[in-house]
Amino acid sequence: MRWWGPRISDTHRGMPMIDFKINNGVGIATIDQPKSKANILNAEFFESLNLLLDSVEKYEDLKGLVFISAKPSIFLAGADLVSMRAKLNDQNWLGEVVSLGQKTFNRIEQLKIPTVAAIHGACLGGGLELALACSHRIASSDKCTKIGLPEVMLGILPAWGGTTRLPKLIGLTKALPAILSGKAYAPQQARKMGIVSEVCYKENLKKSAIDLCSKKRTWNNPCRSLQWLIAPIVFYFARKTIMRQTRGNYPAPLKIIEVVKKGIFIDKNKSLDLERKAFLNLSQTKACKNLIRIFFLQEKAKKGPSPAINTKPIESIAVIGAGTMGAGIAHWISSRGKNVLLKDISEEAVASGLKKIGKLFISAVLGYKMDRSTVRACLGKLATAKNNVPLDNRDLAIEAVVENFDLKTKVLAQTEESLPESSILATNTSALSITELGKKLKRPDKFIGIHFFNPVHKMKLVEIVVGKETSQETVSRTINFVQSIGKLPVVVKDSPGFLVNRILLPYLVEAIRLFLHGHSVRAIDNAMLKFGMPMGPLRLLDEIGLDVASHVALDLKKRLKDFKVPSGLDEILSTKALGKKTNGGFYLYDKGKSTGINPVFKKLQNKNPIPCDLAKQMVATMTEESRKCILEEIAETTDDIDFAMIMGTGWAPFRGGPITHARQWK
Ligand code: NAD
Repeated sequence: MRWWGPRISDTHRGMPMIDFKINNGVGIATIDQPKSKANILNAEFFESLNLLLDSVEKYEDLKGLVFISAKPSIFLAGADLVSMRAKLNDQNWLGEVVSLGQKTFNRIEQLKIPTVAAIHGACLGGGLELALACSHRIASSDKCTKIGLPEVMLGILPAWGGTTRLPKLIGLTKALPAILSGKAYAPQQARKMGIVSEVCYKENLKKSAIDLCSKKRTWNNPCRSLQWLIAPIVFYFARKTIMRQTRGNYPAPLKIIEVVKKGIFIDKNKSLDLERKAFLNLSQTKACKNLIRIFFLQEKAKKGPSPAINTKPIESIAVIGAGTMGAGIAHWISSRGKNVLLKDISEEAVASGLKKIGKLFISAVLGYKMDRSTVRACLGKLATAKNNVPLDNRDLAIEAVVENFDLKTKVLAQTEESLPESSILATNTSALSITELGKKLKRPDKFIGIHFFNPVHKMKLVEIVVGKETSQETVSRTINFVQSIGKLPVVVKDSPGFLVNRILLPYLVEAIRLFLHGHSVRAIDNAMLKFGMPMGPLRLLDEIGLDVASHVALDLKKRLKDFKVPSGLDEILSTKALGKKTNGGFYLYDKGKSTGINPVFKKLQNKNPIPCDLAKQMVATMTEESRKCILEEIAETTDDIDFAMIMGTGWAPFRGGPITHARQWK
C-alpha cells in the first residue's frame, strides 16, 4: 500500500510517533509526534497506528486500549493539510488517503477490547474521527480542550467516518448542526451533546480512561427508530437554513446533508463510501481551494513572518479612551492575560467602559468560551484611571479617543511624555494619517497605527499602519504583540483609508449611487448577499452610521484624486435618518431589529433606473480599488489584500478575496 505523504524520514526513525506501554493490563498508546508542537494525522501517524494495531490485535490478555497525547495542549489537531494542499489535484492520492483513514479507524472500532480516547487539548477533524471509532471518549476540563469537526470550513466534509459515526452516536438533531457548523466545542458542551461521556481534571485523565475500559461500548443514540420519523423534517429545515445562510454558494454543507441523509439508513461501509465520493467531489471545487488557501493565509498571519529583529515582548499596555473601541481593546487584551490600564477623562466614561467589558466577559462565560476563574484572573489584570497617571511600567499605549486630529495630537503628546522611551505609542485611528499625527511627537520612530475593527472581540483582523518615520523595530514588535493577543495582523502603508476602508468605501458609495439612480434597497442588498457578502451594502451603511461613513468618504474624496461621492449624499444626511442608531436609515428599526424599508429616501431616487448587473457593478469598484492598492504598494502582497478583505469585512470567502475573484471568476 502507498502511504499518504512522504515515507518516515531518517530523522524520525527510532523516534516513535506512538509510544505503547501496558498499565494494569490496559494498553496505553501515547501519541507524540517527534519534533513538533502538534500531533497531526499524517503518513507517519497512520504507519505507527497500523503497526500498533497489528500488535494489539495479537495480544490476548489486553483489557483495553487508551489513546492519549503527550502534547501539552493538543490531542490530535486534524489531517496533514500541507500534504493535502500540495496534492489537491491528485484524485488517486486523495482517494487513497481517505481509504487509509477509514480502514484504520474501522480497525480500531472492530477491536474486541474496549477502546478509550482520553482527550486533552485540541481534538479536531481526523482527531475526533479517531475518537469516534473508539468505544468511549473522555475529555479533560482544561480550557485548551476543544472538540469538533471543522472540515466544512475548508469546503470539505469529515470523510474518515465522522459524517457516518457522529449521527449514530449523538443522534441526527445534534450531529447535523455540529458537522454543518464546524464548531469546536468546549468539554462540558461536548459532554452535554454526548460526544464525550465524561469530563475530568487533566491530572485524572489517564486513570479515568483506564477505569472506562471496564465499561462496555454503547452507541448512545437513544431512539434510533425515532430518527426515521423526524429525519425528513430535520433535513428539510437543515437545507432551508443552509440555503438562507449561504444562498447555495458553498457546496460542502449541501453535500454533508446529502451524505448524512442517505448514510443514516444504510450499512456503515456504504455510508463510508458516500463520504469518500463526496470528499473527492468537494475537493475539486473552487470554494474548497479558496477556503484552504485562506486557512493557510490565516496560519501565516498567526505565526509569521518571523521577525527580523528579536524584540522584547509587550506585556503591559495602557488604553487611552474607554469608548466603544477603547473598552473593546482593553477587554480583549486583558482576556489574553496581559496587564491593561484603561484611561478616560471622567469617572462616568470609565464606568461605562467597564460595564461594556463586564458584559463581554459574562457572555464569554455563558458561551463556554471562558470559565469563571479565568475571568476573575483577567479582571485582576485590568486597572482604570481618569486623568493623567504615570505610565512608566507600560510597554505600549494605544490611543482610542474620538476621531479628531487636534484632540488626538494633544492626547498623543501627553501620553508620550508619561511613557518610558523604549515603549511604543499607537493610535487606533480609522482614517487620520500616522505620519501627520507623528509630526509633533518626540519619538515618531516609536509611533504606529494599530487599527482594530469593531466589534473588537469578533473581528480578528488588525491593520498595522506604518508611518514614514516608524522604525522596523517598532513594526516587528507590534506584529509580535498583535499575534500574541490572538489577532491577525496585516501590515499596511499609511495612506487614505489604509487598506480595508480604502476598498470598502468606494463599494458603499457605489451602492448609494445605484440607489439614487432608482434601484431598490432590496435589489441592491440582495445582489450582494447572493454574491456572498455577509450583509448587503445599504444594511452595512445603516450599521456603520451614514454620518460616520460619509465623514470617511469625504475624507477619501479630499485625499484621493479619483474618488467621487454622489451629489445626493448631502440630501440623504439632511433627513437625519442616519442608520440603526437613529432607528432609521435605508431600513427602519425598532429596538435594534429591522422592521422594513425606510421610505424617507424614496423621493431622492430617479424614477427609471437603467437596468444593470448590480453585483457586477459593485464588485467592480472593489476589484478596481484593490488593483490601485497593488500599484500603490499599500499592502505587501496581493494575498494580504484578499486576506484583509475577508477577515476585515467578511468578503465572500469562497471566492478567495477581491484579487482572486478578479482572476478566477471572469
Ligand atoms: P467613542 O466616542 O466611543 O469613544 C471615545 C472615548 O474617548 C470617549 O469615552 C471619550 O470620553 C474619550 N476621550 C475623549 N478625550 C479623551 C482624553 N483626552 N483622554 C482620554 N479619553 C478621552 O469613540 P470610538 O468609536 O471608540 O472611536 C475611538 C477611535 O477608534 C477613533 O479614532 C475611531 O476612528 C477609531 N475606530 C472606531 C471604530 C468604530 O467602529 N467605532 C472602528 C475602528 C476604529
